[in-house]
Amino acid sequence: MMTTYSFSREIETYKQADVVIIGGGPAGTAAAISAARCGKKVVILEKTAQLGGMGTIANVSIFMPIGNVTGIYRELIAEMLAESLPAGHDESIAPQYSPFMLRHYLNEKMKKEKVDVYFHCEFIGTIREGSKLKAVIVSTREGLKAFEGECFIDCTGDARVAIDAGVPYTTGRESDGLTQPMTLMFMMQDTGKPVTPILPEGCYEYKDVSDLPQGRRLYWEQNNDGSLLVNMSRVKANGAKIEDVNYAETEALKQVYSIAYYLQKTGFENYALTHIAPQTGTRETNQIVGLYTLNEQDLTSGARFADVVAQTNYEIDIHSPDAQKTTDERKIDGYDIPYRCMVPESLDNLLIAGRSISATHVAMSSMRVQATCYALGQAAGIAASLSIGSAVRMQNISIDKLHDILEDQGVKFKK
Ligand SMILES: Cc1cc2nc3c(=O)[nH]c(=O)nc-3n(C[C@H](O)[C@H](O)[C@H](O)COP(=O)(O)OP(=O)(O)OC[C@H]3O[C@@H](n4cnc5c(N)ncnc54)[C@H](O)[C@@H]3O)c2cc1C
Repeated sequence: MMTTYSFSREIETYKQADVVIIGGGPAGTAAAISAARCGKKVVILEKTAQLGGMGTIANVSIFMPIGNVTGIYRELIAEMLAESLPAGHDESIAPQYSPFMLRHYLNEKMKKEKVDVYFHCEFIGTIREGSKLKAVIVSTREGLKAFEGECFIDCTGDARVAIDAGVPYTTGRESDGLTQPMTLMFMMQDTGKPVTPILPEGCYEYKDVSDLPQGRRLYWEQNNDGSLLVNMSRVKANGAKIEDVNYAETEALKQVYSIAYYLQKTGFENYALTHIAPQTGTRETNQIVGLYTLNEQDLTSGARFADVVAQTNYEIDIHSPDAQKTTDERKIDGYDIPYRCMVPESLDNLLIAGRSISATHVAMSSMRVQATCYALGQAAGIAASLSIGSAVRMQNISIDKLHDILEDQGVKFKK
């Protein structure tokens, strides 16, 4: 029988803020900027040493096209990748970027916006008072500390805060709970002369494209600096499960060495393996059950909502949850994501932004990309600020005011 323990401690408050954001990925950083621009005192608690989420930590390095380059995402492109900035907002771009530059850009951006970022701070629990969160408990380099807030935004990608606070959630495919597989991204560099391919012990010798984990060659060379960005590993695992992650972190690394060896033998003879992402990337884990659940029909019918907070036409893009060598890719024309997908029913002062919003497995496969998560975060930061200003529950904020401030902050929607 499994032993259980109850754990009790006196934990001092380290900081108080108006808006406490947990997770500094696309959703978290955009939420922080927008809330700070509403005049709120904002902190971000991030468990790693980097802002940018999967976009930096997992070395993603491509912004997938969503047909709407607007708001804080547009600002990021203008400031970091000016050559990719489209004239109009309702255009599609898919630029490749340096994850190292994005990491630095976001650090500096947070300083300019007067957002306090706490690195190496991992959320571990919520303190609830009735239907409100009072504080979150965080593991820091100085032990456990409490961060108190008026409002909290869960941008962990895994709905970690929401789940701890009792918000209902789902995981993966409705049929069997399997999530999209994990991928360890890596980079190679043209050295100008042949390199000696190395296949470390325990790795795989792929002979043919059909032997590769995804059954395809998938890489980018857009930066024109001799670097090659490779997205070719695939591990059947749920990034929010202990045993799955343990397996993924070793299996994916074996695949990386094996793929690099294969590429060095098949067209990239001069390329050395130069960078492996610090952690294996997670596409999908948990979705909250919010006031509205985005679904496949919304995507395929081009649903429009009065409480729209983000718009995207990114395809349905499901890497096989069984880790088969297939990817279900289906083009769509574009749809709205409503504010209600970020709002849990049971708590007055918590929003969930980014890839773990209320959405089905198919719907999240489209809304999960970075530009959409920046858009959701931006709306969540404003909504949190409005809720504090008007002392109403998150679910009762004025959508007209939310839209007015989004517009003031440069967000444009297609009519
Ligand atoms: C391999 C791979 C390839 C992809 N390719 C693309 C692509 O080409 N283009 C594209 O646009 N998108 C791509 N995506 C999707 C995209 O990167 C993510 O869906 C997106 O980054 C999600 O943003 P987010 O803010 O919701 O969450 P995340 O990016 O996951 O950020 C969550 C943040 O919260 C932090 N966090 C988690 N738990 C805690 C905790 N307990 N305490 C404190 N902090 C915590 C994490 O460290 C992280 O910084 C890809 C994803 C993967 C994995």
